[in-house]
Amino acid sequence: MPQDNQIRYSRNILVEEIGAAGQEKLSTSSVLVVGAGGLGSPALYYLAAAGVGRLGIIDGDRVDASNLNRQILHPAGNVGSRKTASAAGTLAAFRPDLAIDAYPERLTADNACRLFDRYDAVIDGTDNFPAKYLCSDAAVLTGTPLVHAGVLRFGGQLLTIIPGKGPCLRCLLPDLPSVEDSPGSARVGIVGAAAGILGSWQAMEVVKLLTGAGDPLCGRLLTIDTINGTVNVTPVPRNTTCPACGDVRRIRVLSSSDYIQEGICSE
Ligand SMILES: [Zn+2]
Repeated sequence: MPQDNQIRYSRNILVEEIGAAGQEKLSTSSVLVVGAGGLGSPALYYLAAAGVGRLGIIDGDRVDASNLNRQILHPAGNVGSRKTASAAGTLAAFRPDLAIDAYPERLTADNACRLFDRYDAVIDGTDNFPAKYLCSDAAVLTGTPLVHAGVLRFGGQLLTIIPGKGPCLRCLLPDLPSVEDSPGSARVGIVGAAAGILGSWQAMEVVKLLTGAGDPLCGRLLTIDTINGTVNVTPVPRNTTCPACGDVRRIRVLSSSDYIQEGICSE
């Protein structure tokens, strides 16, 4: 390890569960972050800070002024720019030796498995249920660990999905909720710090997965409610009839028809 990095990562290396070996592991690891928004911003920042060698960023959107209360990778001057370019620029200034793969496109049933296969772990930083189910199914099909999270208003939830070891998103919620039942932040709002907490926790889970430190939140759903100041962890069993990871699997290839949400009208 170059001497600059010995200093840069000295506080990581001092943590017994990480050490020099864990730091070396981080430097040779790669992580894909789906969405450079409220969850992706802190997740990408902390993965870069932790010394992960290569980060993939996939996002098809452009920076909007309404994103700036929580999407801390994007400076105000980047409103209107592609989120991937904005995020890559911020991260390159923060850590010049970081390898960044920017994919200025949406995650789809066509590209998800190909992209997931290129990385050691994936973070779901998306903001809608169809994309979250797509992430979970692609993780199961490719055997790639995925840290799922969702955030709205003052809180959210997180589950680490380790294919073959624990439940997937469909074990927790078998059916894609309708649009009515899953309002987005554009309807009910989101406090930036809530996204900061969940996205940071996602980065923490990935650091644990890559270094082997601690116990991942696999089969355990973390629920954070900051307005009441509560944090709960509840067991989630694998569902043997799950269409994605159960004993008889219906989902063997990704098909865009599995990610259409009831209540979306085509114009
Ligand atoms: Zn499942």
